[in-house]
Amino acid sequence: MNKVKNLLRYTRGYQKLYLGACVAVLFATLFALVSPMIIRYTIDFVLPSLMGSAVEVNEASGVDRWFTTFMDGLTGRGLWLAGLTFLGFTALRGVALYFKGKWSAEASEGIAQGIRDNLFTKLQTAPYGWYGDQETGDLIQRCTSDVDTVRRFLSVQLVELIRIIFMTLVILVLMLTMSPRLTLVSLAIMPFVFLTSFVFFTKVKQVFKESDEAEGRMSTVLQENINGVRVVRAFAREKFEINKFDKANRNYSDVTFGLIKLFAYFWSFTDLMCYTQMAGALIFSVIWSVQGVVSIGTVVAFITYVEMLNWPIRHMGRILSDFGKSVVALERIELILNAPSDHDEEDMDKPQIKGGITFKNVSFQYEGSSEILKDISFDIKAGETVGILGPTGSGKSTLVNLLSRLYDYKDGSIQLDGHELRQMDKAWVRSHVGLILQEPFLYAKTIRENIAIASAGAQELDVVNAANAACIHHNILEFDKGYDTLVGEKGVSLSGGQKQRMAIARTIIGKSPILVFDDSLSAVDTETDRKIRGELNKFSGKRTTLIISHRISTLKEADRILVMEDGKISDFAPHDELVTKPGLYKRIWD
Ligand code: ATP
Ligand code: MG
Repeated sequence: MNKVKNLLRYTRGYQKLYLGACVAVLFATLFALVSPMIIRYTIDFVLPSLMGSAVEVNEASGVDRWFTTFMDGLTGRGLWLAGLTFLGFTALRGVALYFKGKWSAEASEGIAQGIRDNLFTKLQTAPYGWYGDQETGDLIQRCTSDVDTVRRFLSVQLVELIRIIFMTLVILVLMLTMSPRLTLVSLAIMPFVFLTSFVFFTKVKQVFKESDEAEGRMSTVLQENINGVRVVRAFAREKFEINKFDKANRNYSDVTFGLIKLFAYFWSFTDLMCYTQMAGALIFSVIWSVQGVVSIGTVVAFITYVEMLNWPIRHMGRILSDFGKSVVALERIELILNAPSDHDEEDMDKPQIKGGITFKNVSFQYEGSSEILKDISFDIKAGETVGILGPTGSGKSTLVNLLSRLYDYKDGSIQLDGHELRQMDKAWVRSHVGLILQEPFLYAKTIRENIAIASAGAQELDVVNAANAACIHHNILEFDKGYDTLVGEKGVSLSGGQKQRMAIARTIIGKSPILVFDDSLSAVDTETDRKIRGELNKFSGKRTTLIISHRISTLKEADRILVMEDGKISDFAPHDELVTKPGLYKRIWD
């Protein structure tokens, strides 16, 4: 019951539309159910009087002839009336069905759109660390096909369920008023049909899931192959890839084929049940009508009603089992909706920041990992340029991740100009700590838009200045459309070094007082590296700059160099001093 409530909670704001759709579907059902009654009336009352008059006409005398002609006119009109009523109700039913479809679609589309918007907003505010536990494909599936499952349930099946329940009840009442004993005979097998279908659809859900997973595996192979086309070609792995895909593809086909086979069994078996039911109803009703217990019209009406129930009763089993599917989909959606939010914090500090950085006894570990940073303490003055060196995996990226509040430290204290980082607004921190990642991501937009992405009011001159500082201005001018060149999937492909420099330009333009280069000069040649650092030196004294690198040449001009080993700081001194001390730095320098 709670699950129903939870699902229905999403209809908030659309209740009127749903109510409209339900009323429309009730009317449509009523109109549909009237038809067999009109046929019954026609057979039982109109037809006998017509036939009666026809028989009498042959044998009648002159007066009788006149009378029967008169009657004929009346009953003839009765036939017309029946025909017109039949047509009228069919038309009314069409109108009602139209409004049911329109209103339920409006409501469910609105709800689905709302859910997708909420999901996307949530994805924007969920903490960076939260993404570490998620799979991209899975997240996308939650935002698309899971939302669609819920939408389908709300748009079609919810209203359909109401229609079927209402229809069954009305048919039951109509049948009972016509003939209780025929009702019993006509509906005897129906509960079993319903049970069979319910059990079937509950069982088949597992196969549906397998088919979903098989499809997922196939598209993963496809996606990996397209993304990794370079590796595939470079290592001549085409044959292997084709085999891999063939296997996934065959598996998917097999599962789908199995599913289709199951459905074929189900429909033919329940068809057998339904038609046995109809045959039973037919035999008994004919016997009873010969005995004069029920009229022929009633027989026809009963057969029509039983036929009308054949499909919905089986469908109800499906709806009820799909309800379970929607509940699962909703749970998957809510896993995202209930994720913590970065922007939940309010009244956070937004102090002026010049660029002084203090770490005091900071220890840190990722969720479920061992300790990565071990009791780290150091001081960096505003405007200082600091190089960071350390073996891979020593915790350099982790250190700067903490600095931009991508992850939150629990032990120790990090301060910017004496303000505790934890107390500061995250967006504020990130606008003051410009982080340039090792592997930059560029949008499928123009170069200009990619550079100006983080600073709303950037002018043309700002973009060019930033590109100049990142030593990529001349490269950009060499493209056909210069700054208007599209990059990414539909545009030019940039080299690794060009991408890194785009990312540097993008961060420089932001004018943040602290700049962090996380190995972001690794893909440019030493000459360009030197030039960029030369440009950066122009800010020296104004911006605090942290440069993580594995190249001594990149680091040696820094004011001081922080050497990290195994999550600890083993040295923090200028180049000249470090080369005289035995240690990691001197070893690499030598
Ligand atoms: P590199 O020079 O290769 O970039 P690094 O010094 O930047 O290395 P970090 O990225 O800080 O190293 O990683 C330090 C340790 O933390 C590694 O052992 C890594 O496996 C682990 N680690 C990094 N990110 C995560 C994460 N999100 N969850 C769990 N462990 C992580
Ligand atoms: Mg790193």
